[in-house]
Amino acid sequence: MIRINDNFTRLPISYLFSEVAQRIDRFKEANPSADIIRMGIGDVTLPICGAAVNAMHKAVGEQADANTFHGYGPEQGYDFLRRKIADVDYRRRGIDVAVDEIFISDGAKSDTGNIGDILGTDSRIAVTDPVYPVYVDTNVMAGRAGTLEADGHWSEIEYLECTAENDFIPSLPAKSPDVIYLCYPNNPTGTALTYSQLAKWVEYARANNVLILFDSAYEAYIRQPDIPHSIYEIPGAKDVAIEFRSFSKTAGFTGLRCGYTVVPRSLEGLSADGTKIKLNALWRRRQCTKFNGASYVVQRGAEALYSEEGQLQVKEMIDYYMRNATLLRDGLHDIGLETFGGINAPYIWLKTPGSMSSWDFFDKLLEECLVAGTPGSGFGPAGEGYFRLTAFGHFDQTKEAVKRIKRLKLN
Ligand code: PLP
Repeated sequence: MIRINDNFTRLPISYLFSEVAQRIDRFKEANPSADIIRMGIGDVTLPICGAAVNAMHKAVGEQADANTFHGYGPEQGYDFLRRKIADVDYRRRGIDVAVDEIFISDGAKSDTGNIGDILGTDSRIAVTDPVYPVYVDTNVMAGRAGTLEADGHWSEIEYLECTAENDFIPSLPAKSPDVIYLCYPNNPTGTALTYSQLAKWVEYARANNVLILFDSAYEAYIRQPDIPHSIYEIPGAKDVAIEFRSFSKTAGFTGLRCGYTVVPRSLEGLSADGTKIKLNALWRRRQCTKFNGASYVVQRGAEALYSEEGQLQVKEMIDYYMRNATLLRDGLHDIGLETFGGINAPYIWLKTPGSMSSWDFFDKLLEECLVAGTPGSGFGPAGEGYFRLTAFGHFDQTKEAVKRIKRLKLN
């Protein structure tokens, strides 16, 4: 019989969201008429904006005509979209990112997961804790994580704790990792790093030959002026960082699938014989071999987001969700719950009352308020005692959820 990749068998069976779904299902079975408001899974609810929809209709028309039909596209993405990204997302912010440093993909989950393909199998990894689970699980699959310990940590991964005690700002690693995953604005805590806080990480990475994998999937939610929109705003970051972006939360593309990754040409790694190799060339090779490009229609939709009309519609969508975030923050604060995030991100991270566990709070919120959220402990050991609510619901539902949460019995 064939041998399997044993690393997969090391992964814990229950994935966070399936456990959440199972608990909701059990509750619904016992309470069939319960009208549950789901504020757990981070999917958006507003439809795709008009500018993108029109562009995609047009692109579908092109696909129906032999003269304008597009088959396989460039694996790295079409230049029409890469040029818009280089111009609007970077040049207009004073950042120099070349078109051939941009790789269009089917989303940031794939890219943050796949990037490990070009890294050494013995690279030492550091992640923030709590963490977007994809960073950890893909390293488990690749055999870099070691074994799962009783406290929920993987033996070979360095965890950088983010709690209320350190204002959710991780301290620099103690164990000299090779690769650090940073996600800002952060999922799940909803917190952000200021320019000077992020600059410390770039400085550290430059001094210690560390690669930063910077996930910026929530960049569009940044509102405060001292929060950098790209890690490349920090001088020298192009020598140490790969940046991941997504149209999922920016423009409701969670179902369409489109994102991109910037791999600067100046980024280098070492081969086993000590030769310096460009990561840009490695990633291009990886993508050309394993990926056939995001669809033409979807890339035309993404391109339209950069038009004047598209930019306005994206802003309206983000404003809508951020109004929810404010409503949630204020409502939770009114009943004395300690909240974080929700200012530069669509996530509200709250401290559970007393010493209640994240899962106990999940059950309490479900039973008393018919509101489902996500237990913080599902994102890593340091998430225990916290809870995540998302601002991606409809406004009326969010209002209703806040009304119900205000009835929570806290004593
Ligand atoms: N990165 C983070 C931090 C996320 O929270 C998510 C989605 O929830 C993703 C990446 C995935 O984005 P995409 O839909 O582009 O795959």
